Amino acid sequence: MRCPFCGNIDTQVKDSRPAEDHVAIRRRRFCPACGGRFTTYERVQLRDLVVIKANGRREDFDRDKLERSIRISMQKRPVEPERIDQMISGIVRRLESMGETDIPSKTIGEIVMESLARIDTVAYVRFASVYKNFQAADDFEDFVSELRPHVPAEE
Ligand SMILES: [Zn+2]
Repeated sequence: MRCPFCGNIDTQVKDSRPAEDHVAIRRRRFCPACGGRFTTYERVQLRDLVVIKANGRREDFDRDKLERSIRISMQKRPVEPERIDQMISGIVRRLESMGETDIPSKTIGEIVMESLARIDTVAYVRFASVYKNFQAADDFEDFVSELRPHVPAEE
């Protein structure tokens, strides 16, 4: 890391510790050339992920957008908010660990559906119905009837 005071690139890390409730690492750095001290933060950079949409357009991955669509699917469902948070973090971790920066929106949709299906079938159907953009009511009926055995009795 280049020294911001003198431009020397050979600076030393004196101390590293977790910060911001473990989402960042704070490093105290020292420049032996000029004696300057400075601090850097290391955190996961989600903007490195690019979503390739069905029409071929590219878009920066936006965790908030993902979260919004999941929360809409989860509206009024008996699932604790912490579980939803955990699920979203899990999805993001999976995307980050795929080893690719370009991720088709289809892949993201499938991972979301898989995760929702494990937590709440109703939320899954809601999300899937929007995601898959069912044009014909018949398609949607087929889809729901496939799921029906797993749908809770109150439905
Ligand atoms: Zn320096």
